[in-house]
Amino acid sequence: MARTLITGGLVITAAEEVPADVLVEDGRVAALALPGSQRWSADRVFDASGKYVVPGGVDAHTHMEMPFGGTRASDTFTTGTRAAAWGGTTTIVDFAVQSRGSSLRAGLDDWHAKADGNCAIDYAFHMIVSDVNEAVLREMPGLVGEGVTSFKLFMAYPGVFYSDDGQILRAMQQAADLGALTMVHAENGPAIDVLVEQALARGETDPRYHGEVRRALLEAEATHRAIQLARVAGAPLYVVHVSAREALAELAAARDLGLPVFGETCPQYLFLSTDNLAEPDFEGAKYVCSTPLRPKDHQDALWRGLRTDDLQVVSTDHCPFCFAGQKELGRGDFSKIPNGLPGVEHRMDLLHQAVVEGRISRRRWIELACAAPARMFGLHPRKGTIAPGADADLVIYDPHAVQTLSAATHHMNVDYSAYEGRTVTGRVETVLSRGEVVLDRGDYLGRPGHGTFLPRSTCQYL
Ligand SMILES: [Zn+2]
Repeated sequence: MARTLITGGLVITAAEEVPADVLVEDGRVAALALPGSQRWSADRVFDASGKYVVPGGVDAHTHMEMPFGGTRASDTFTTGTRAAAWGGTTTIVDFAVQSRGSSLRAGLDDWHAKADGNCAIDYAFHMIVSDVNEAVLREMPGLVGEGVTSFKLFMAYPGVFYSDDGQILRAMQQAADLGALTMVHAENGPAIDVLVEQALARGETDPRYHGEVRRALLEAEATHRAIQLARVAGAPLYVVHVSAREALAELAAARDLGLPVFGETCPQYLFLSTDNLAEPDFEGAKYVCSTPLRPKDHQDALWRGLRTDDLQVVSTDHCPFCFAGQKELGRGDFSKIPNGLPGVEHRMDLLHQAVVEGRISRRRWIELACAAPARMFGLHPRKGTIAPGADADLVIYDPHAVQTLSAATHHMNVDYSAYEGRTVTGRVETVLSRGEVVLDRGDYLGRPGHGTFLPRSTCQYL
């Protein structure tokens, strides 16, 4: 049995910060001890003096190889999970997609086929339900039994993923009966489509209009509606990629009532804004995602929401499209720009930068990026923490290293960086996934197929 020892680091979890040696045995954390107090023998020793030892990141929102707008996201499970590992993320929860007119089974099988044997890190699936009907409702218990315990519904994208309120209510009722979590993309799609049509008719075709027509009020309205539907269904609710202050206010009000309502935001909403969408020469297309980036003054509200726990999780919504040939599909018509940003590699670093800047504490960093997503989606304590028995998904993190983010150095399969030229303090030094060294001081040692599918239990906040 292989033993690995990490000595001298500051072990940070959502709950504690303690100097400790960490012993790894058989892919799991075996023990923690006062630094130097145990004479443990090990096959391999990492000296983490002056460094942090943190749980591997859990990114609960990715879209590898996701079909969208006649193209598909440019990261495969092979390239996307490798990039995740470079950034200290050791678990992703990706979205399997039900195609309209097809079954959940077929969509899930499709996603298993894409991921199986290709992932460098462990992975799990949510299920996107794009066609709520009797047959689909009858399939849901089977999926929950297989560890796919969350279902995502869209109030946006009419004709593609969109479900009407009646369909959403039915799916929520069924999910509630099963103990599953309903996830919602909360934007009023039919209203947005009207504004898109009107903007294009006025000749407003640049990327920045993507942000203007997808109004904050239409995110807030849909968030409010999703919450009320969830109340009627007696269902817990998780709102993905919250970007508008007004939508966050709806979540906060619901939580103040004690409702089981949760929210996620993403680094792009915390660090980027409509200023990026307005970049000239079609550069703004690099920042087109939905929900859209908002004016800068929304960022403070989101940071406050993260501090006060009105938002519980930071995921990436990683859905990369190359500028050349993919984003360019929308030249002359912003509505044809594929929606999505690359980000899976940078979440841990960007959130650490927020620690450096005093926006969140170190423990809150780990809670938002590791522990809370693991609990939210039924992976705790195997993932998201450092404790005896947990998977040895561990990151040695250098809090003082300075790095500049760039497409020239990142590992995602996409030809631009949304954070090009941004300097951050902190960097991943070593990554273990179930005890195997995936990355060490700039050497990538991972391999496709190391990562395995994780059947999940249900939400652990309920
Ligand atoms: Zn998404």
